[in-house]
Amino acid sequence: MEPVTVRLPGGLRVSGDWHRDAMLRPLAGRDEAFLLQQGRELSAASRTTALLARCLSRLGSLPAVTAETVRSLTIGDREALLLHLRRLTFGEIVSCVLACPHCSGRLDLDLQVTELLLPPYGHDSDNHEVSVTVGNVPYRVRFRLPNGADQEEAANLAAAAPDAAAALVFGRCVQEVIDARTGEPVGDVPAELIDTVAGAMAERDPQAEILLNLTCPSCNASFQTNLDVAQYFYRELHRHEHDLYREVHLLAFHHHWSEAAILKLTRRARLLYVELLSETLGEGRLQ
Ligand SMILES: [Zn+2]
Repeated sequence: MEPVTVRLPGGLRVSGDWHRDAMLRPLAGRDEAFLLQQGRELSAASRTTALLARCLSRLGSLPAVTAETVRSLTIGDREALLLHLRRLTFGEIVSCVLACPHCSGRLDLDLQVTELLLPPYGHDSDNHEVSVTVGNVPYRVRFRLPNGADQEEAANLAAAAPDAAAALVFGRCVQEVIDARTGEPVGDVPAELIDTVAGAMAERDPQAEILLNLTCPSCNASFQTNLDVAQYFYRELHRHEHDLYREVHLLAFHHHWSEAAILKLTRRARLLYVELLSETLGEGRLQ
């Protein structure tokens, strides 16, 4: 399967030029094997960086795409790329099972990847400014949007100390906090300001968090839930881990292809060859 070109919701600005068109190839067996082996040791953010650095072959007119490039992308752009990779690798429909937070009833969802992708935001600057008032003090805050590098840095804190993770991201992304009454920079910022600015960042990069508005079919309660695309995608790959090695074994055993050659195939091509093998030999004779 040929790489496809997809449009990022945000885009990367380098030396004044925006790069928004990304060329992405579907996962090959060797990417699946990488995630299942070395990927286990990595945080979710670092795993996403490693995966995107492997599969993103071009970004705008940049001469090369490196892990550093992928770390510079906003969280929303990284989520969009993961959604596209999911679509290219496993198809358009994401089937998930959720439990209702009110009655614990089961919800079966079939989501369309393309419906989860937001249109481009059209930001003309990568510097943002917001005016907020906390405890009667008006502030002006200038910031950039959180990116993959921030996510990786915060990964160790995120679960155990979410406040410390938020403060870390604030410290990395906020360029200036001004007391709007005096025009003077502020050193110590109140915790509420960190929360409010995090909200302003999320508003400007809405693809970063996919919120689903759902209604439970059993108790009719409405609730909102966050779909973690990266986690869902990796779980899906883990569920198919045994199949991956079984498929490699079958193709190696019957065609005498090398493991490396088989792992170069996309998941779709690999499954197609296994299907053809099964037709040729008859189901019962596949070993
Ligand atoms: Zn319910």
